Amino acid sequence: MSRKKIIAANWKMYKTPGQTRQFMQEFIPLVAGHTRDQIVICPPFVNIATLVEMAEGTNVEVGAQNVFWEKEGAFTGEISCEMLVGAKCEWVIIGHSERRQYFGETDDTVNRRLEVALEAGLSPIVCVGEVKEEREAGITEDVLRRQCSRAFRGISARKAAKMTVAYEPVWAIGTGLTATPEMANDAHRLIRQEAANVFGDDYARQLRILYGGSVKPENAHNLLEQAEIDGALIGGASLKPDSLAKIVKW
Ligand code: PEP
Repeated sequence: MSRKKIIAANWKMYKTPGQTRQFMQEFIPLVAGHTRDQIVICPPFVNIATLVEMAEGTNVEVGAQNVFWEKEGAFTGEISCEMLVGAKCEWVIIGHSERRQYFGETDDTVNRRLEVALEAGLSPIVCVGEVKEEREAGITEDVLRRQCSRAFRGISARKAAKMTVAYEPVWAIGTGLTATPEMANDAHRLIRQEAANVFGDDYARQLRILYGGSVKPENAHNLLEQAEIDGALIGGASLKPDSLAKIVKW
């Protein structure tokens, strides 16, 4: 089965609305007419409106970097699915390792966010990945299986249709270290197997699994040509229009 690849940018806590506008003015002409891969940019919340406005009528889609599971209420600082949908945001990253590391995200909160995001019609990108100590201890497989099975708990294949998974070995994020294509391929195969256990073989065959961790123009091709790698989630190298455009054109 051929799975259209997704090139997704995670801007983390970078760029103002003005810088977002400038980025798009430069980036859109660089990728105009590119239909081989889907292009998604996930800026900080305050830039979503600007990005949506600039992306209208282009091949760029817009995502958020997190979402809260409650519909509304006294939850200062949080953003709901309805707010994202209302802002014409279509994608959302869930369970990024920086959220797990600095903001108390757990497998259980990932599951809660995933459930409401799917319910709201958003396309969630669920991030999983082992830390350095876990890889060194030889428990990468256990960690990935646990993260996936807990994230997917209670969700049906029909409901999970718009879900994507990102394998992001934490030791490769922002460090310049990259998993070898073979390491990534192995991890992706395991995630697909876990998805098959939970959702069935047909679902697993069409599930897109992105690789993230120091993807840059120089290594994008070797990673993206792997059969099991259905796209990339890119942090640092997505902040400059020419760098992201080069990755899009891997
Ligand atoms: C990320 O933020 O998801 C990421 C993979 O970052 P970087 O590309 O900078 O390693």
